[in-house]
Amino acid sequence: MPKIYFIDVTNRDGVQTAHLGLSKLEKTLINMYLNEMGIFQSEFGFPTTRHESLYLRANLELAEMGVLQPIRLEGWIRATVTDVETAFRLVPNIRHLNLSISTSEQMIHGKFLGKKSRDDILKMMVDAVEAARAHGAETIGVNAEDASRTDMDFLVRFALAAKEHGAQRFRYCDTLGYDSPFTSYETTKALAENAGIPIETHCHGDLGMAVANSVAGAKGAIDGGQDVYINTTINGMGERAGNADLAATILAVTKSKGFAERYQLAGPIDLTKAWKIAKFASYAFGVPIAVNQPGVGVNAFAHASGIHADGVLKDPQNYELYGFDELGRGEPELVETGREICSGEYSGISGFKHIMGQMAVSFKDASEMQEILELVRYANVEAQKPLVEDELLFIAKYPQIARKLLTLKPLE
Ligand SMILES: [Zn+2]
Repeated sequence: MPKIYFIDVTNRDGVQTAHLGLSKLEKTLINMYLNEMGIFQSEFGFPTTRHESLYLRANLELAEMGVLQPIRLEGWIRATVTDVETAFRLVPNIRHLNLSISTSEQMIHGKFLGKKSRDDILKMMVDAVEAARAHGAETIGVNAEDASRTDMDFLVRFALAAKEHGAQRFRYCDTLGYDSPFTSYETTKALAENAGIPIETHCHGDLGMAVANSVAGAKGAIDGGQDVYINTTINGMGERAGNADLAATILAVTKSKGFAERYQLAGPIDLTKAWKIAKFASYAFGVPIAVNQPGVGVNAFAHASGIHADGVLKDPQNYELYGFDELGRGEPELVETGREICSGEYSGISGFKHIMGQMAVSFKDASEMQEILELVRYANVEAQKPLVEDELLFIAKYPQIARKLLTLKPLE
């Protein structure tokens, strides 16, 4: 029986979101949390974007050190030979790539303005796949952008050509959130059956159905005989109305009526990390978690009305589908209401020593402390808000990696 994998794309689609972004340290922490959670793959950034190079290289180094293991780190580029060459020049150790190109008539005409035919699109994709393999890519996914507005015959041709030339996965992009669960199911099933390649679902929420379409797409791919790789983002962050929310999608495939009995995860996922990762992403993006967000919203386990409160006190299962502790909630959280010493870009040694001492971090000598403080200052310049405990601990533990994450060298 084929299985369900998760590919989180917060560090790619999430940061493409208008008005929002993440520092390189925040992106790194997200990779660390996704790894702890058991997520199969993180689409960790843009290998052709120069300001990402050192961040991507540093994260691959963390993988080599065994820190970012077993998660797979994969980069997103356009499906062109030029992009493949640039990616391997700027990030030589990259081994996993997704190559993206538009496939719908709308986009082929609307973006390439009549200069490209469908055959040109196929050739560009195939050439890019060949180039990526020649440069040493171990796994390649091909993304059909706007796939949900592309006719089935062409999608099958596209997926077959990708497979023939050595791609491992086909990403079915519902770029505009146009699918419903019914069409998502039919299409992914037909693609799995006719192209015989593992399917990635990539669903957007423009019609409020990103999670539902992901679940239906997963069912379609598996019923069609192929593994499925569901694309998610933390807190559903993503372009316009966002992507399928990570926690909600995991809940949906593991808790919804009858689904988990037939459709299984490829490996265990530690859902108890959901609360921590949602809170961190909310802080890092500066976007509050909606009160009614599944599992992690303030109201997800709140009961006020008489009948519900009475019922849940007698037996939580009367009004709760799953327990708050399953998402890692329930621990009291300390919020400082008095004096606060926090990190900043102009922090001094005394305050820094106090902060690190509270986390039981000690330094071997004054110069080591000064070195870490200097890095923390730089991290604050990029984040423009106090660092969280895990960021400070990360810098203290991996100063050489932090140095790379914090280095921006324009126009290399
Ligand atoms: Zn997207």
